[in-house]
Amino acid sequence: MTGRLWNRCTGSQLKLSWVQVGPVLARLRFDMSPTRSLLASDLDGTLIPLERDAQRLREVAEFVRAVAETVNLSLAYVTGRHLSLAREGIATVGLPEPDWFVCDVGTSVFRKTDSGFEPDERYREAMRSALGGLSGQDVRRAIGVTEGLTLQEDEKQGEFKVSYYTRGRPEPYVDAVRARLDAAQAQVNLIASHDPVTDRGLLDLLPLGIAKDYAVRYLHDESGVEEQRLVYAGDSGNDRAAMLTGFRVIVVGNADEALKKDLGIEAVGLGIAERIYFAEHPYARGVLEGLRHFGFVT
Ligand SMILES: [Mg+2]
Repeated sequence: MTGRLWNRCTGSQLKLSWVQVGPVLARLRFDMSPTRSLLASDLDGTLIPLERDAQRLREVAEFVRAVAETVNLSLAYVTGRHLSLAREGIATVGLPEPDWFVCDVGTSVFRKTDSGFEPDERYREAMRSALGGLSGQDVRRAIGVTEGLTLQEDEKQGEFKVSYYTRGRPEPYVDAVRARLDAAQAQVNLIASHDPVTDRGLLDLLPLGIAKDYAVRYLHDESGVEEQRLVYAGDSGNDRAAMLTGFRVIVVGNADEALKKDLGIEAVGLGIAERIYFAEHPYARGVLEGLRHFGFVT
């Protein structure tokens, strides 16, 4: 029986029918798995323009329209902002709600659900373990009270990001803070900077090894999009690591000149130069230009 069937199947009749059926199957396969893409973009200085004039807002609207007309393009906003400030920021310029928010410099991920944005539980677990099994609350407790060191406002704190102001430059505080963190076995990346305008120092404590690039890799795994269908857009130094992860990249026209130069050199060294697109236009218009360049948007 099988032999007879095989004979029939290997006959010219089958070849003829494959010629007829092949294109139909190919089309079916295409319809069943359309290419999905993900735009992961920084907000301030990238999709949110630094100047709020009518021209810039029109450019945002043009970007929003193009994205809305594209099927299977997911959105993630990757920002230093706290979730509430990120939502406020996108509402102000008319950007749509994304599928994901990555907030607090890559230390929190929120997913869109029917009831709003919910913290991603697997990501929380990853952050807790990167922080040495602690939460931001535990880190604050370990540091305790120090003269000249004050916690920043609530909207600048994340579940796994703790931020302080220091009186004057931050350097004199670093050793004491570090010693207390070590005593609590916290694994922390300590970032110190100084605001010359207010003469205040800024101390950011983040889980060790966590920044925007870690979060973007996580989004890639979670979204299941192919590597070449994830594009990251940004404008400044805190986007640099995410821009060198090997995904497609859009550098908006208004990006720091030093960043552009540095990326150009690094990308050649890493053999990923063709994956990085330097847009001519600034902000949202530059992002749209890049999306068209990579064929994510027609
Ligand atoms: Mg930015």
